[in-house]
Amino acid sequence: MGEPITALPIVDEDACSGCGICVAQCPGLAIFIVDKTYSETEAAVSFPYEYFPLPEAGDGVNAVSRAGERVCDARVLKVMNPKSYNRTPVVTVAVPKDLADDVRSIRIITASR
Ligand code: SF4
Repeated sequence: MGEPITALPIVDEDACSGCGICVAQCPGLAIFIVDKTYSETEAAVSFPYEYFPLPEAGDGVNAVSRAGERVCDARVLKVMNPKSYNRTPVVTVAVPKDLADDVRSIRIITASR
């Protein structure tokens, strides 16, 4: 019998290409990707985002921690939502590199809040 689905997943770094497909496919929405090579000063963080409204590339948003607390400003780089992702969009934001290990999602900035 194989490992239970709740077992801690381990990335095979030799096999992983960083394609990101697993981010949308994980049933627990537990997978994210941190690219610390995005630029000299910023990292790109990608995560599943199942909320409305969806942000758009270029939007300014609040980057938040896994506890939902604001970490910093972020800039949306892209929103991927192909049919194969089965309605689990994957959002990628740029954040200061030194905060990349803290940022795990976003909160949309609205005029009324
Ligand atoms: S699906 Fe995930 S683990 Fe597999 S190659 Fe793509 S990024 Fe790596």
